[in-house]
Amino acid sequence: MAEKRDYYEVLGVSREASQEEIKKAYRKMAFKYHPDRNPDDPEAETMFKDASEAYEVLSDPEKRQRYDHLGHAGMEGNGFHGFRSTDDIFDSFSDIFGDFFGFGGRRSGPRARAGADLRYNLTVSFREAAKGTEVDLELPKREKCDRCTGQGSEPGHSAETCKHCGGSGQVHRTQGFFRVAMPCAVCQGQGMLITNPCKKCKGLGVIQVNKHIKVRVPAGVDNGSRLRLRGEGEPGEHGGPAGDLYVVIFVEEDDTFKRQGQDLVTQVDITFVQAALGGKVEVPTLDEPISMEIPKGTQSGKVFQLSGMGLPYPGGTQRGDLLVQVQVKTPTKLSKRQEELLQEFENLEKEKAGHKVKRFFKKVMGE
Ligand SMILES: [Zn+2]
Ligand SMILES: [Zn+2]
Repeated sequence: MAEKRDYYEVLGVSREASQEEIKKAYRKMAFKYHPDRNPDDPEAETMFKDASEAYEVLSDPEKRQRYDHLGHAGMEGNGFHGFRSTDDIFDSFSDIFGDFFGFGGRRSGPRARAGADLRYNLTVSFREAAKGTEVDLELPKREKCDRCTGQGSEPGHSAETCKHCGGSGQVHRTQGFFRVAMPCAVCQGQGMLITNPCKKCKGLGVIQVNKHIKVRVPAGVDNGSRLRLRGEGEPGEHGGPAGDLYVVIFVEEDDTFKRQGQDLVTQVDITFVQAALGGKVEVPTLDEPISMEIPKGTQSGKVFQLSGMGLPYPGGTQRGDLLVQVQVKTPTKLSKRQEELLQEFENLEKEKAGHKVKRFFKKVMGE
């Protein structure tokens, strides 16, 4: 972690600054780096948090004194932990922000929180990925308790408003010129107390389950594709939306096919006679093998393109191609007769070449 900056330096005030000066300096920084004015700006967020932390310490005479004597080391283990999030800051300083900007904290009572997203790694075979498939996932996850519908209280009972904070989830402390809001310790900032906890979830409102979820893997998915299942993540809190489930697809290798974008690539062996004379060869496809015509004089390594026999494009009706590379196999075991025929073939080739040479010289010599 980077070294913590001096709190006075963060707020840009002298060590002798008055409470009013500190408040003014923080107000300026809070205004400049306010997350609502700087959306998706991590640097501004850091400045906002640092300034808020500095302000929390320097605005409290007791904490400030401890900090002046001992520095950052004096703050650790004294109930001071900085802020985990900007929401934390708004919770603690809602009154100050009301003072600063004319609006208060962001909430009263428990805040709705979205549930966490979940990730599931799913391995499918090459053909399943190519043709699409449906998979039944078994997913250990937390779910809203069905006995109490997530309320945490036994059926027939309901949570009571916390008397300590009057249901706001916050208590206020007067400090110098202004009041500071703190989360209520009795209800942990929830504003409500569960007096008859649900027997099934022990008042948590959520239970651990093994959930079965059907996932449709679309045809043509690639390795590393992510499928998003809305609302299948962890349940939200206090009426917040559930998180999402992300299924990450891992596609196994295949002996017959390789993938090139939406095209499939495969290799087919042919004999040198087929290569020379042409003819029909059998080619594997994602469905039944088909017969493919190759022309006379096909060279080893030549690629034939069978259009529309590859993988479907996501969301479309078009498909990639099947690319068939032919490989001429040289025979290793020949009968006596086959050898004789090949020898004869070779002699004819030489004779042909000889004629060509003779013709060539005749031309050159002007005969
Ligand atoms: Zn309370
Ligand atoms: Zn329950």
